[in-house]
Amino acid sequence: MPQASLWQLKKEMCEYGKRIWQRGFCAGNEGNHSVRVPGCRPGQERFLCTPTGISKGFLDPADICVVDIDGNQVERNAKGRKRSSEVLIHLAIYKKRPDVNAVIHSHPPHAVAFCLAGMEVPHSIHPEAEVFLGKIVHAAYAAPGTPALPASFIDKLTEQSNTVLMGNHGSINFADTMEIAYYRLEILDNYCKQLLLARGLGNVNVLDKGQMSELLEIKERFGFPDERKECALDGCVGTEDQPFLTSFGVQPASAQCACDGGPVCGCDEKPSGGSGPSGGGGDASFELLVQTITDQIMAGLKA
Ligand SMILES: [Zn+2]
Repeated sequence: MPQASLWQLKKEMCEYGKRIWQRGFCAGNEGNHSVRVPGCRPGQERFLCTPTGISKGFLDPADICVVDIDGNQVERNAKGRKRSSEVLIHLAIYKKRPDVNAVIHSHPPHAVAFCLAGMEVPHSIHPEAEVFLGKIVHAAYAAPGTPALPASFIDKLTEQSNTVLMGNHGSINFADTMEIAYYRLEILDNYCKQLLLARGLGNVNVLDKGQMSELLEIKERFGFPDERKECALDGCVGTEDQPFLTSFGVQPASAQCACDGGPVCGCDEKPSGGSGPSGGGGDASFELLVQTITDQIMAGLKA
């Protein structure tokens, strides 16, 4: 690759570093990101990665390190910078997924809150999160900078995974471009923030099987196939028990009365919450809703 193009690639990494830092996704010298250098022959691939010990908000192109697929620094860094020890995470992903050209490891606070709580981020809730993130891979804690860290999640990645949350640690987002990987990081933290805010309101509505099936169709039309689409109507999405939701009383969509004539429709049964105005509040709010509707009907009859 011509030096001018390589310099441009390094400059872009600095610009994304500034965005990551300005958004508060990495404090101090946390986090790291990398790109695959295009045009390298198989076996001689090169990767640009951020150095260790430096804020991502103040990177200079000369700070960026060049490594091979095993993490060896293959070019003398102009400032004597050493590559991040966590580049091992990035390289494991590049090895597993030839379609990935950019990886960002970060500590976005709302998403990390889920990592610290040991709670999986729920799915089947927000269209953007479903389309751009899909099902997030969750990994158990492993010590940073060790081979145990990539080993904790690499076998869980599918062809369509693009986001990992590592226990008691942080996030990894990856894509074919740095721009998309960064968007995924922003969407991840924003989604987690929205979930935590909704929890404060006492409810989160879960998309039912039909809604998820429709959404995954749309996602495929956007160019993001999702392996869950084929079985969405069989109940492999939108119906699972999700601990974040059940922790404050929201039940999976399958436990709700869909009232659409579908296989989960239980119109004779009392809905247990989650979808609709009664969701998440438990029996008390359901009773209140029934009472309100009854009062309105009675008032209408008297009028
Ligand atoms: Zn980290």
